[in-house]
Amino acid sequence: SLPVLAVVGRPNVGKSTLVNRILGRREAVVQDTPGVTRDRVRYRAEWAGRPFILVDTGGWEHDARGLDGRVAQQAEIAISLADAVMFVVDATVGPTSTDEHVVRVLRRSGKPALLVANKVDSHRDEADAATLWGLGLGQPYPVSALHGRGSGDLLDAAMLLL
Ligand code: GDP
Ligand code: MG
Repeated sequence: SLPVLAVVGRPNVGKSTLVNRILGRREAVVQDTPGVTRDRVRYRAEWAGRPFILVDTGGWEHDARGLDGRVAQQAEIAISLADAVMFVVDATVGPTSTDEHVVRVLRRSGKPALLVANKVDSHRDEADAATLWGLGLGQPYPVSALHGRGSGDLLDAAMLLL
């Protein structure tokens, strides 16, 4: 069976936009209202001739429980079902307490992960990405899921984990 790459992170950081970028077509639901993606959606994807399953996650915003716990719980499920993980953070916001929850889940899982610093739309925004070194997951990959900036380097790195 194909290797599974899960895309996790807080609502509105650009997970579905990144999934669309990787799929090369409009398919995952992107909305300005956070939390639109329901649970986990699986897509067949390919990069550099290698097929894999790409999992978009979301749909946590409207749960009655605290957002931190919900995001961490849903991330935990997606991570446990994945071979490798893209953890997406909004570089224009910087690391939040919810992001730190997800880092703990990732650490516990032992799964290989890449830290995606999304919304780095231009060279000017790259300083934003540098603040994410503080999450302790190593090098942040600066990406603009919206415009495609950095997505090739990110995918090259992801293929090494699958
Ligand atoms: P999700 O909730 O994590 O799946 O986030 P979405 O993919 O639905 O995106 C949330 C919002 O962020 C939408 O308005 C997107 O257009 C916007 N967005 C996503 N990626 C980028 C990016 O690289 N740059 C900018 N400026 N906006 C982005
Ligand atoms: Mg989404």
